[in-house]
Amino acid sequence: MRMSQFFLPTLKETPAEAQVVSHRLMLRAGMIRQTSAGIYAWLPLGWRVLQKVAQIVREEQDRAGAQEMLMPTIQSADLWKQSGRYEAYGKEMLRITDRHDREMLYGPTNEEMITDIFKTFVKSYKDLPKNLYHIQWKFRDEIRPRFGLMRGREFLMKDNYSFDLDVEGAKLSYRRMFLAYLRTFARMGIKAIPMRADTGPIGGDLSHEFIILAETGESQVFCDRRWLELDVLAEAPAPDSDLKEFFDRYTSIYAATEEMHDAAKAPADLVTARGIEVGHIFYFGKKYSQPMEAIVAGPDGQPVTVEMGSYGIGVSRVVAAIIEASHDEQGIIWPEPVAPFKLAIVNLKVDDAECSRVCEDLYARLTGAKVEVLYDDRNERPGAKFADMDLIGVPWQLTVGPRGLKAGVVELKRRATGEKLELSVEDALARVM
Ligand code: ATP
Ligand code: MG
Ligand code: MG
Ligand code: MG
Repeated sequence: MRMSQFFLPTLKETPAEAQVVSHRLMLRAGMIRQTSAGIYAWLPLGWRVLQKVAQIVREEQDRAGAQEMLMPTIQSADLWKQSGRYEAYGKEMLRITDRHDREMLYGPTNEEMITDIFKTFVKSYKDLPKNLYHIQWKFRDEIRPRFGLMRGREFLMKDNYSFDLDVEGAKLSYRRMFLAYLRTFARMGIKAIPMRADTGPIGGDLSHEFIILAETGESQVFCDRRWLELDVLAEAPAPDSDLKEFFDRYTSIYAATEEMHDAAKAPADLVTARGIEVGHIFYFGKKYSQPMEAIVAGPDGQPVTVEMGSYGIGVSRVVAAIIEASHDEQGIIWPEPVAPFKLAIVNLKVDDAECSRVCEDLYARLTGAKVEVLYDDRNERPGAKFADMDLIGVPWQLTVGPRGLKAGVVELKRRATGEKLELSVEDALARVM
């Protein structure tokens, strides 16, 4: 992408309405634009990151055996009357009446709809287990939408739903998702700690919230210091094992939200911090399958009401939470797996023929090698270019200027550490390809 062509409306001033750093930086970096309270348009830079995050979520869901589908945003109230949640959900649900006076709603979650789809088609234990997910916009009419994408009204969620014949099966599905979530967040370069959570209005037996530690988090959380050092990707077992040993080991390391915190059980080396909920998993048994009659024929021909769980990740909130966890005075520091571009080429003097020739050549070679590159080919002061690059947080910056070229070097800077290296063009390329 050439920066001269890119729709990237960065701001120099700090927007007054933004109270937390992720909101400020997303506005300043030209990632989003608020269109109504708690509702945002994703501009090209923000959209790239949102897709990166969604793709990692998708890959880990697929790896864990879940199957992707897509359910609509608009739902019929009838299903929610069957589950008993139509009244119970309260004012957070955006209710809509269509021209035929039918009661509809903008889905805040999809337990009812998926249970209805499941029961229409699945009639036998032979078709179990099943785990289905989608990545779709949700709407919750939050009483106080705030902090930008962290608590929006319209937000992107990955939600999936497991269906099993018995409790043992359902718990295995839960453990699989527990592992998938640990891997998902670790791959994004962030530390999300699973904390024993209250099951709240969805109800049920077993639940963990995945929490990122950040000063601006809305909840108070407590965890064993060991969580900060765990390397989940190195340890994680194959997803097709029964995962018991793994699950027991991880859940034995203390971590709890305020509601579940028990000072008597907490370890000596306790971390007390603020946390952001980026994911939440539930096992709730027959809570929906019973009232909605999701029943299959068991091995002995007897009817069995299926065991269910649901699992959510706030995909759009994750984008903001990553910024909360990874930024400095100058701007965003994207972990490489979710960065909008891997590398930026900064042309210090676009009217210098040799400088632009080298930049164009680098740009062509990198793009040809499928490296995602942002090429700053604008006729701007170097200071403004560096400030923009630091603000939008591209992990690697390759600076090309006439003086360096005379000495046969370009400068490669790593955004995360500020570390700079002078390298020949070929050595610089070798490092980032
Ligand atoms: P919160 O406690 O923050 O209100 P929740 O417990 O109501 O979230 P869940 O029903 O567990 O949310 O939904 C799954 C995930 O969706 C959450 O873990 C969170 O990451 C995300 N999420 C929920 N509400 C919002 C929101 N208003 N804006 C952005 N993401 C949200
Ligand atoms: Mg909520
Ligand atoms: Mg919550
Ligand atoms: Mg929750």
